[in-house]
Amino acid sequence: MNSHHFDVLIVGSGLAGLSAALHLAATHRVAVITKGAFGEGSSNWAQGGIAAVLAEGDHFDEHVQDTLVAGAGLCDPAATRFVVENAPASIAWLQGLGVPFSQEDGVLHLTREGGHSQRRIVHVTDATGAAVQRTLIEHVRANPNIVLFDHHMLVDLITARRLGLDDGDEKHDQTDGNVRANPQATSNAGTSLSPAATDRCLGLYALDEKRDQVVTFHAPQTLLATGGAGKVYLYTTNPDTATGDGIAAAWRAGCRVSNMEFIQFHPTCLYHPYAKSFLISEALRGEGGVLRLPPSHGSVRFMPQHDARAELAPRDVVARAIDFEMKKHGLDCVYLDITHKGAGFLHEHFPTILARCAELGIDITREPIPVVPAAHYTCGGVMSDLKGHTDLAGLYAIGETACTGLHGANRLASNSLVECMVFARAAAQDILATGSPAVSPALPAWDSSQVTDADESVVIAHNWDELRRFMWNYVGIVRTNKRLERAAHRIALLTSEIDEFYANFHISRDLLELRNLVQVADLIVRCAQARHESRGLHFSRDYPGLQDEALPTVLTPAAA
Ligand SMILES: Cc1cc2nc3c(=O)[nH]c(=O)nc-3n(C[C@H](O)[C@H](O)[C@H](O)COP(=O)(O)OP(=O)(O)OC[C@H]3O[C@@H](n4cnc5c(N)ncnc54)[C@H](O)[C@@H]3O)c2cc1C
Repeated sequence: MNSHHFDVLIVGSGLAGLSAALHLAATHRVAVITKGAFGEGSSNWAQGGIAAVLAEGDHFDEHVQDTLVAGAGLCDPAATRFVVENAPASIAWLQGLGVPFSQEDGVLHLTREGGHSQRRIVHVTDATGAAVQRTLIEHVRANPNIVLFDHHMLVDLITARRLGLDDGDEKHDQTDGNVRANPQATSNAGTSLSPAATDRCLGLYALDEKRDQVVTFHAPQTLLATGGAGKVYLYTTNPDTATGDGIAAAWRAGCRVSNMEFIQFHPTCLYHPYAKSFLISEALRGEGGVLRLPPSHGSVRFMPQHDARAELAPRDVVARAIDFEMKKHGLDCVYLDITHKGAGFLHEHFPTILARCAELGIDITREPIPVVPAAHYTCGGVMSDLKGHTDLAGLYAIGETACTGLHGANRLASNSLVECMVFARAAAQDILATGSPAVSPALPAWDSSQVTDADESVVIAHNWDELRRFMWNYVGIVRTNKRLERAAHRIALLTSEIDEFYANFHISRDLLELRNLVQVADLIVRCAQARHESRGLHFSRDYPGLQDEALPTVLTPAAA
């Protein structure tokens, strides 16, 4: 079958995609289209937990305030309050589905993480995401209204405009939502509405990775839940799926993207040749772990010299401090020391980290853990409102792919899983409340009659590597105008090579991911170049100060 019809298409099987599928499936036929194995993604890897106001003495206002402080003036207050106030219901929903959250004396055990003024992180020991995903996958598999298409990769969205069907009168209704206007003109952002505002999403093309064929999916509503773009950097905590596909596809379809310069670098990724992307959870610092220079430099604890909150400072502060100390002393890594907590505590609270480190010969009960910063979270993404609407009618963006305004210039720890659930439900409710367009036009099949097999796949592998290295070196934790210019120049060269490959050869997952990564790299660099200040996660040596007014960066695609 090379053509499928559904009520709703959901791209991605992380927490955002699966939550939306479950909310919709009572009345709608839903396709979950996902590249690779079903359920892969960052959600599966989340360790620390999910933030929600549940403790006695904690208040919505405090969670809102902590989020706004971390976001460095760029959080959208309405989106922040919306997520915070809906967080407890999301936890209750997961409990209802059977997620076995850790408890103490019969009540949920709450941890505290950097930037939170209260203990409010619900968790399942130190493998929260895997436990949540296991539970959701069971429910999704049991639901006859949800059809799973694993090993199916989104190639591109199909829009009326692309098919020449756009009559320009189907303007997306954003009046009761929260899509922000374009307050900061950037390199190509001169207008406040994107070309997609008069267009509509009709479905998508997906590469069936096993049959090596492109399949057409038709539906009046499509949800992008494709996660972040950490793989654009050489060092990342993200899984291989995080190649920014949804952001790139939405941009190509005419949607605005926002705040792409704000990439969160997790301060503590395990430094070991066989475990480049294993995260050492924030919760270790929350429970008293301290950062030290190596024994060759006296094992000195250095965070108190950088910030009064020491190891509990927000991630960007800690990541920059580590970067500073590593560069100053020429170190490969620094050390996170939790040995004072004792073996019993560590076995009970951090069994996964303890086991993984033990496999690599590190006994965290007796010796400090070698750590480095790594790209961890994409704060920006496809601009979306409180219902998940993008600029394109019939297209929603939820989860890490979206830029809802919650994270501003820096994400507060454990706010992203909850954002996935809150916006998945909001988007689903919007779809349930909206009647589908009556007529669904016929969509053309993918045409591969003009292409041949690539004879130089080495080019793709080489370009992947080159892109990730220069993004790490030039567009990493500390940026300069010169480095951004260098990156932009290389991106332009890669783009022309990839465009040529895409136009002339059969597509593969590697090529599609590279195409998307280069697109996302371009968006990151353009946003970074447009920000003439250092705010939140964006730090520029050329602009170390803050502008008086905090404005999001908004990029608007050129008219198709
Ligand atoms: C190591 C780690 C630990 C973390 N810990 C926490 C934590 O403790 N608390 C917290 O709140 N957040 C945490 N985060 C962040 C959080 O996990 C993510 O932001 C969140 O899981 C994103 O969910 P998602 O559904 O948007 O994307 P994902 O879970 O990444 O799912 C994306 C899905 O889309 C699919 N996909 C991508 N591209 C395509 C395509 N072209 N076609 C088809 N399918 C596609 C992928 O295969 C995947 O199934 C952590 C992240 C990492 C990496």
